Amino acid sequence: PAMLGMLGGGQLGRFFVIAAHEMGYRVTVLDPDKNSPAGKIADVHLCADYADQAALEKMAQTCAAVTTEFENVPASTMEYLAQATVVRPAAQSVAIAQHRVLEKNFIRDAGLPVAPFVVVNQVSDIPADDDAIYPAILKVARFGYDGKGQARVKSQAEAVAAFASFKQEVCVLEKMLSLDYEVSVVLARDAEGKIAPFPTAENQHLNGILDVSIVPARGSEIIKSRAQQLAIKLAEKLDYVGVLGVEFFVCDGELLVNEMAPRPHNSGHYTIDACITNQFEQQVRVLAGLPLGDARLHSQAVMVNILGDVWKDGEPEWDQLFARTALKLHLYGKHEPRPGRKMGHFTVVTDKAETALSQAMTARAVLGIGV
Ligand code: ATP
Ligand code: MG
Ligand code: MG
Repeated sequence: PAMLGMLGGGQLGRFFVIAAHEMGYRVTVLDPDKNSPAGKIADVHLCADYADQAALEKMAQTCAAVTTEFENVPASTMEYLAQATVVRPAAQSVAIAQHRVLEKNFIRDAGLPVAPFVVVNQVSDIPADDDAIYPAILKVARFGYDGKGQARVKSQAEAVAAFASFKQEVCVLEKMLSLDYEVSVVLARDAEGKIAPFPTAENQHLNGILDVSIVPARGSEIIKSRAQQLAIKLAEKLDYVGVLGVEFFVCDGELLVNEMAPRPHNSGHYTIDACITNQFEQQVRVLAGLPLGDARLHSQAVMVNILGDVWKDGEPEWDQLFARTALKLHLYGKHEPRPGRKMGHFTVVTDKAETALSQAMTARAVLGIGV
């Protein structure tokens, strides 16, 4: 069987390996961690740095096509691989998504709405107190995730201090918005430009980390379909090939694009249990040049993330979850639970939206999340 390549060995890569295996492919994973969730179940695990010449050469020679699950893969790695094999998404798309300044400018220049922001390259770029940007969030342009590399600031002085604490790395200073709620759209776009969007998900965050996704989102149909249109427009402007996650803020009834991920997205995990084709199978399909699958939702779904915090009193009581027949548990095979670390998730799948949400919230409380 053909070999597919995956840059990154986290849980997203692990779900990709599972989908690829079910579809008859073998997978080579490149990840420096010998215990990475995807590396452990891959056919070949190249345990090396993302710039390791020998590993990249091996990948280029043995893989029919390569994709990524780790948005911080160096663009040079993807460009190198692209000389010898198929790479999807393109290095250029990943380079934009992995840098907040390029990302925000791209989204704005594509004519899509974004929150007011200022690029901070140096201290003198930080606006004075009377600027309409405050209160604001200072976000480092690179390597931030799960709310890391972000500081909430009320004044120029606080922004200057936060910028210093980020070692004066390039940042984006973004207006702090009062959010009605948040939604996301995950879609797959193939090499011919055909697009299959998954339904719009409604997302709740806890301490800057995704906590709960509710699907379909409960907001107005207008907002939900507009989110789909905006995500599609963004994918087309990028000439994106692969699976793309787009996060939105809903603010005063208007959608603003928050950010994008050049890969399957945590808010798309519900697709594993509630859609005809899941986001990882779509990733395999696009990569292998197969037709896109049907992305329709066949059930109501509520997904809840399980972070390492849940292990504070030892192993969680999984039997309490297994007793709930509409609940599907997915653990990522990580052995070191740390606070804030994504260890797994569960999805409640039913035919009634209210039941899905109430069952998920009860199960969430059983694990001690958000209590
Ligand atoms: P990830 O990549 O894991 O989604 P991240 O570290 O890139 O997270 P963001 O998506 O920028 O972080 O922000 C995380 C969350 O913080 C958002 O989903 C939202 O709940 C809140 N947030 C971020 N920016 C703003 C803002 N300008 N106004 C209000 N809330 C915000
Ligand atoms: Mg992000
Ligand atoms: Mg985000």
